[in-house]
Amino acid sequence: MTKIPDILLIYTGGTIGMVKDYDSGALKAFDFEYLFDKIPELKQLHCNVETISFEEPIDSSNMNTSYYIQILEIIEKYYNNKDGFVVLTGSDTMSYTSSAISFMVENLTKPIIFTGSQLPIGDLRTDAKENLITAIQIASSRQNDRPVITEVGLYFEYKLYRANRTSKINAEQFEAFTSSNYPPIAESGVHLKFEHHLLFRPDKNKKTFFRKKLNNNIVILKLFPGITKEVVKAILNIPGLRGVILETYGSGNAPTSTWFLLLLKKAIDKGIYIVDVSQCVGGGVLLGQYDTSIKLQALNIISGKDITVESAVAKMMYMLGENIASENFKLIFEKSLRGELSE
Ligand code: ASP
Repeated sequence: MTKIPDILLIYTGGTIGMVKDYDSGALKAFDFEYLFDKIPELKQLHCNVETISFEEPIDSSNMNTSYYIQILEIIEKYYNNKDGFVVLTGSDTMSYTSSAISFMVENLTKPIIFTGSQLPIGDLRTDAKENLITAIQIASSRQNDRPVITEVGLYFEYKLYRANRTSKINAEQFEAFTSSNYPPIAESGVHLKFEHHLLFRPDKNKKTFFRKKLNNNIVILKLFPGITKEVVKAILNIPGLRGVILETYGSGNAPTSTWFLLLLKKAIDKGIYIVDVSQCVGGGVLLGQYDTSIKLQALNIISGKDITVESAVAKMMYMLGENIASENFKLIFEKSLRGELSE
């Protein structure tokens, strides 16, 4: 007889865990111990669900690297005893958090599915129930007695995405996320349909590692026409700065002004890593395609290729934390570690 999958549901905060107090009209945190009373449909799923909540649930705007570690420690503690994990966070920073978790687990062999909702679980028109029920179903999906998903996913509004490919793009519609450079890895319609050829596959012979050292001495420098020398100089001279996500135009293009290139060169010479990530949501960096990126190429800047800004932030924190040797840093950053970029 096949074993009933055991799923751990981790609630960190966010709208999904709220219910309306109909007397006052205010939203208040919902006690996940009573999950099955609120969503009796969960009993019909073919799995056991255990829940753990952050002591103080947080709005995802307050998410930070210590909370990433807290989430990872819970997963690590239960890793051998559970078959899959569903992590509930607010949607606002879910792409950052789920991207970070994707880098922090090496050779993941079980599903970690992030989800949340635009409306609270207690709201009449809520999207929380569908998101939660299907995320649990995905986390417990097995084929030949193995989990179907062995990566960090983000499930929202009928689509499962590779988490480190996503961005939140809408604060109003239920379809809040997009993944412009990688198709959904599963879709929920009448059937739950997995795109098996798109799934990330770990090396079965390698051990799973939980990496908890992150270095957040980084900055996102978003270019805009008219940006001044003073601003760029001040940012690149932040004490202790180790990494810069340089948000460039189009296919990785940037101003060719001498002052700008000199400031970048000085920062690189000081040992600061600069990665070129496009401001466009679709497509990516192609250094050397235009004259305006040839200069960046000459500086040996790192190409983010088609990575999202959220994922570049997570990868930079992770790689700096792992103390990757400077001669290998560019090479490793430009490689896909968890399917976050197309090589
Ligand atoms: N502000 C909320 C949060 O990100 C929104 C949500 O949960 O979707 O925590």
